[in-house]
Amino acid sequence: MKKTVYTGLMALLMLTCQSWISPAPAGSKLKAKAYQLAEKVEPKVIDWRHDIHEHPELSNREFKTAEKIASHLKGLGMEVKTGVALTGVVGTLVGGKPGPVVALRADMDALPVPERNDLPWKSKVMGEYYGQSVPVMHACGHDTHVAILMGVAEVLSQMKSELKGTVKFIFQPAEEGAPEGEEGGAELMVKEGVLENPKVDAIFGLHINSATEVGSIRYKPGGALASVNSFTIKVKGRQAHGSAPWSSIDPIVTAAQIINNAQTIVSRNMMLTKEAAVVTFGSIHGGVRSNIIPEEVTLVGTIRALDNDMRDQIHERLRSIATHTAEGMGATAEVTIDKGYPITYNDPALTAKMLPSLEEVAGKENVILSAASTGAEDFSFFQEKVPGFFIFLGGMPKGKDASKVASHHTPDFYVDDEGMLLGIKSLCALTLDYMESPK
Ligand SMILES: [Zn+2]
Ligand SMILES: [Zn+2]
Repeated sequence: MKKTVYTGLMALLMLTCQSWISPAPAGSKLKAKAYQLAEKVEPKVIDWRHDIHEHPELSNREFKTAEKIASHLKGLGMEVKTGVALTGVVGTLVGGKPGPVVALRADMDALPVPERNDLPWKSKVMGEYYGQSVPVMHACGHDTHVAILMGVAEVLSQMKSELKGTVKFIFQPAEEGAPEGEEGGAELMVKEGVLENPKVDAIFGLHINSATEVGSIRYKPGGALASVNSFTIKVKGRQAHGSAPWSSIDPIVTAAQIINNAQTIVSRNMMLTKEAAVVTFGSIHGGVRSNIIPEEVTLVGTIRALDNDMRDQIHERLRSIATHTAEGMGATAEVTIDKGYPITYNDPALTAKMLPSLEEVAGKENVILSAASTGAEDFSFFQEKVPGFFIFLGGMPKGKDASKVASHHTPDFYVDDEGMLLGIKSLCALTLDYMESPK
């Protein structure tokens, strides 16, 4: 009896001591170090952010931004490639131990938007857009993405010898779309082989969000952001005097029928319990004056989908409805749908696996499962090739009303410096945890 009590006590003591004295797993020790280094680098990240914000550059023109990034990465002793997809920069950090290749991506471009925020680091920069001089602003927050990733590069390069694998830091141009007639963005980076040599096993990326509170992270497994395809429908009829419509084949009436019939694509053909879908007509052009029925009408619009099969079905339905409606009216319709951006698809297995990493850095209650967005992101081109996880990082100052803040791409768009530390820590945690158990 006594012995049993004694043994029991000893066992309890040993158990307590064991959990007390046993070393933390290698992964959590590494992460603790990364978080400390992240806090140390935060003031620099904020300075970089202000500098980049004050000097924004349009898509495929991110020359100075790229120079700053490249010189920072070179200073960290990394192998650096510049001029990837025109202005992109890729730094490769080879860890001291074998392991997978993790890619981290930040987009670098700004927008033709005049800044209205009253900040010491407000943008006063002008740029050229379609031959016009325009004010330029980081109105989507890509300045924070660049600064955060530069910070992550500094943190992880200080842990090089302990890293179990390789990190590719991908600084991407032209997320907002290359100027007409130019290639660019993630698609061109993939085409130029950014995910090869060494071959990337998984990719992580984040987007700051002006309506998500600082300290929070939003995510969605599967289709998180929509695919986007622009379409053009050219409706051809027969021109006539407006006073004698019987001698025309009226492309205006035909176009109106096409627009109406196309409303049934989402409302009658899409299984909306699965995912959302959008067909929007954004422009109609035809005719010049009241008494001429024109020969041609052009309709332009956008298609958004969160599921590949649904996207294909929309394309098929739109072509069919446009051509058959026109045919029924004696006209013709020529439908072109561009290649667009794919769905930003968070690999469900990777998302489930990495969620605890985010919950650890942000706190479980601050990692929020969100509805999909029908906006689009060219991060999707990376995810077409390798499993990827794209998250939304809170940038809204605490206590603000999310329904009242300025949205992305507007002159009053604002995200707070305070949000960036969680961004640095999150990307570090995702990288280190993935390296610890890649499969
Ligand atoms: Zn944007
Ligand atoms: Zn953006």
